[in-house]
Amino acid sequence: MKVFFALLFSIYILSADTKIHLTNSEKEFINTHTIKCILTPNWAPFNTKINGHIAGIAVDYWQLIKQKLHIKSKCITTSEWINVLNAIKNKKADITLATSETKDRKKYAIFSKPYATFPIAIATRNDVGYIASMKFLKHKIIVVGKNYTAAKLLKERYPNYNILEVKNIQTALDMVSSGKAYAAIDIMPVLIYNINKYEFANLKISGKTPLEFKMQFMIRNDYTPLASAINKAIDTITPYDKEKIYGKWIYVKYQTGFSVEQVLTWAIIIGILITILFVYWIIRLKKEIKKRHKLEEELKKISFYDSLTDIYNRYKIDLSLKSQIELAKKYKIPLSIIFFDIDDFKKINDTYGHKVGDEVLIELSKLIKRNIRQTDIFGRWGGEEFIIILPNTDLTTATHIANKLKKAIEEHSFPIIKHLTCSFGVTELKDNDSLNTLTVRADSFLYEAKNKGKNRVISDLNV
Ligand code: GH3
Ligand code: MG
Ligand code: MG
Repeated sequence: MKVFFALLFSIYILSADTKIHLTNSEKEFINTHTIKCILTPNWAPFNTKINGHIAGIAVDYWQLIKQKLHIKSKCITTSEWINVLNAIKNKKADITLATSETKDRKKYAIFSKPYATFPIAIATRNDVGYIASMKFLKHKIIVVGKNYTAAKLLKERYPNYNILEVKNIQTALDMVSSGKAYAAIDIMPVLIYNINKYEFANLKISGKTPLEFKMQFMIRNDYTPLASAINKAIDTITPYDKEKIYGKWIYVKYQTGFSVEQVLTWAIIIGILITILFVYWIIRLKKEIKKRHKLEEELKKISFYDSLTDIYNRYKIDLSLKSQIELAKKYKIPLSIIFFDIDDFKKINDTYGHKVGDEVLIELSKLIKRNIRQTDIFGRWGGEEFIIILPNTDLTTATHIANKLKKAIEEHSFPIIKHLTCSFGVTELKDNDSLNTLTVRADSFLYEAKNKGKNRVISDLNV
């Protein structure tokens, strides 16, 4: 890196020393004349007075040109710009340093090529972001120094904008600082210099207009050899020379794009928003999952369980019975079923009411659940008729269980009605049985039990 800079530096030095080839008439002109320069000392940072001395960017450039061409010169000042123009016109002075060419001035003066070009820039308060386009200022109040070059260029280019001409750049900046105007526009170094000089801590450069200010020397029109010599000297000015001059007069960097603070602020805001959204999303998702689980549970209950007795419903029983029949046939294991029906249930409803009937169904279901095995599948076949599927159970065991249940019911004291009995039909799966033949057979045994006087168990064993 160091080597690179050293190289760059020596290139600058070398090019700075580039020899200027003057013609004889140019040389002679310079040798025989002391150039009288005239300027207004009130245009900082181009020409101004510092501690009684004339100084500024334009003065430094003139100094550089003088050195390069070995020009003898003395400067006089006048407070009015019109005096400068008149002095050149009347040939009372020979050159002025920081101006630009206009049709009018070209009638009586000659201009060097531009030796520096500056953007016309925009100053606003610090809280304004980067201004990328002049469109942004369309309906805002813009202040400019009265009769300044920037004012002229701006009014020509943007005739419909609210451009307010005020006394000078200090007044313009003051108005922006106090909120009376939105933006002050002037040549970039003028803005920067004055923001610093008057310590407008709340102002900054927020962007550039597409306009430019080209700085030229204006020379009395009979001094052509001087003009051509100056042009040759301008060609030898290096970026290093320019940097040196700007470094002295312009210390503020202007804003390009977004400031670090702005980017950081936005990053934090966006970060917080994303976090909030994320947390909100997670909470919603959790709620949704919980809701789904509940819904699934409810659905499962609705589809598999009887709402009154909380035992399996007919749908689930059908599914279970189908799969148990398949399993039993496949693995050649026994399968039995018990059908049972409450005896004289109609009478209970008629005597105690439907509600008591419901309570009896619930109580009976609980009693049966307590008296069967974990592996037995108990459900409501319909009305006051129930089924128990007994996997891996032969007829004898199933009949035994049915009798045990008959006894348990008979001996149980039901609320209100106290006594209750049921009739049972029991059968075991045969090789050629289908779900239909199996259940029809069980139902026929149950029917038989009813016919034989109720409160009894009928199975294949009785046949
Ligand atoms: P059996 O001994 O011959 O079975 O006579 P039963 O009176 O028990 O039989 P029946 O088929 O004549 O009447 C059954 C009654 O059960 C009729 C019906 O209203 C009642 N029932 C069916 N489901 C429910 C229910 O969910 N709740 C109530 N309370 N009663 C029901
Ligand atoms: Mg009945
Ligand atoms: Mg019945």
